[in-house]
Amino acid sequence: MTSPPSFSGQDLPLHPSGSSRAGEGDESRLSRRGFLTLAASLGAGFTASAYGADTPGPSDAVKTTANTTYRTPQISGVVQRCPDLGIPIPTGPPPGVTFSRVPVTDQFVAMTFDDGPHPQNTPRLLDMLRERNIRATFYVIGRNVDLYPAVARRVVAEGHEIGNHSYTHRSLTTLGDAAMHDEIKKTQDAVLRATGVLPRTLRPPYGAFRQNQRQAIYTELGLPTILWSVDPLDWKRPGPAIVSQRILAGVTPGAIVLSHDLHSQTVDAMPATLDALMLKGYKFLSVSQLIAMKGGDSTQTTTVAAPAEH
Ligand SMILES: [Zn+2]
Repeated sequence: MTSPPSFSGQDLPLHPSGSSRAGEGDESRLSRRGFLTLAASLGAGFTASAYGADTPGPSDAVKTTANTTYRTPQISGVVQRCPDLGIPIPTGPPPGVTFSRVPVTDQFVAMTFDDGPHPQNTPRLLDMLRERNIRATFYVIGRNVDLYPAVARRVVAEGHEIGNHSYTHRSLTTLGDAAMHDEIKKTQDAVLRATGVLPRTLRPPYGAFRQNQRQAIYTELGLPTILWSVDPLDWKRPGPAIVSQRILAGVTPGAIVLSHDLHSQTVDAMPATLDALMLKGYKFLSVSQLIAMKGGDSTQTTTVAAPAEH
């Protein structure tokens, strides 16, 4: 038997000895019909037929009018939930300098959301992910973390991974070493201040990051560069249906999906996208979880186009 719906005594004035209490109104008692309705609503093993239509049951002594305040709870079981995978977010050093996907055979996928935190769209997306028990990775802009620290905190509190996406979203290839370091370090500091954790991975804005820069940041800060294998071009705002269609067409085992919680259309696309991926059998990992599944550098790294809005 599943858990019965909860209700308070006030909702259902069930007094087994109610009929002997002189002066109580009908509303304080429970009729046989009311009792049987209640019994049926509680589920298996205690239904009207258990007593038979003519068999006196324990409710006969109880008289009341129908309960008018009780409502059957809404059934809300239609949203699929990703099973708990029992894979901890790794704590060891990341196993390579650059990743755009991880060649695993199981149907694992990492959803990544860039350019937040956004005060409305990010919480809306977090609701969708929580409802489905899905873990994702958020590549945040440090400046936005300083603007919306509570949203960043929620990202971490709800079990998602938070990654570094620079402080001001400038193309890092245009900067000198000191300025490039500053962009990344300031974001590490902002995330730590807001959430208490440090990002473990970096996604450079526009995917633009020279090999020597990647190597330097990996060596000095332990941050691997994370690109992507699926790009729905959601920043062009083609509409939620197209965003969803492109992601579903592109995902293969070990994919890293790029998208942006900055854009409401992208968030609008997520319920259908996530549900369809689950129907295909995909399970969701954070980026660090996914890359930990493959030791060594596993990259298809250098041919990523850099559209203007990433
Ligand atoms: Zn970006």
